[in-house]
Amino acid sequence: MTHVAYPAQMDCENGTPMRRALELAWDAYCAGSFPVGAVLTEPAGAIVAEGRNHAGESTAPDGLMRGTVIAHAEMSVLAQLPQSDYADFTLWTTLEPCLLCQAAATMSHIGHVRYLAPDSICDGLDALPSINAHAKRRYPEIVGPGFGAEATFAAVLPMAVLASSFRYGSAVGHYVAWSPAAAAVALRIVDDGLWPSRDLGLNAAIDHVAALGNWATTD
Ligand SMILES: [Zn+2]
Repeated sequence: MTHVAYPAQMDCENGTPMRRALELAWDAYCAGSFPVGAVLTEPAGAIVAEGRNHAGESTAPDGLMRGTVIAHAEMSVLAQLPQSDYADFTLWTTLEPCLLCQAAATMSHIGHVRYLAPDSICDGLDALPSINAHAKRRYPEIVGPGFGAEATFAAVLPMAVLASSFRYGSAVGHYVAWSPAAAAVALRIVDDGLWPSRDLGLNAAIDHVAALGNWATTD
């Protein structure tokens, strides 16, 4: 198991797996769910499964969870997979996989994980393989985060959605201490009603969030 910083800006251009994951994250936001998207690629790089968060919805495609806090994007992808070995497959996700999804990727025999935005509530999960033999045998190689406007978007929008429900919760307090600049933008979105309109396309939504933080835009 390795967990290393991505060596270059993660490719989010049209047609890439991470771009598709971002599109799915935007779809989740527009549907009222937590904005995270994920896809699985086979060894040659083609997308073979897609998923997104359905936590805020009453419906989802057959076989997928909805309306529960564990209806995560990665779970949506992994729940579609027949039992097999996916050691040469890669799970791409817009936000660092949580305890639930890292465990599910391990149980699904996924070989590689790429994530775009960091999530500090995942700090320490790398220790799992050091304390559990099964996790050590199956834990995926995890690479991330990326950086740039897309990564910021992928980090800030989930923070804002979380803060809209749990403004003074422990997780939000944790983010404020961990990443004050990103958390400040997330709280501005909530407190000042600066949500990206669901009428926007993904690129305009990314630029909207970037402009709030005076970060570089996508062009
Ligand atoms: Zn998760």
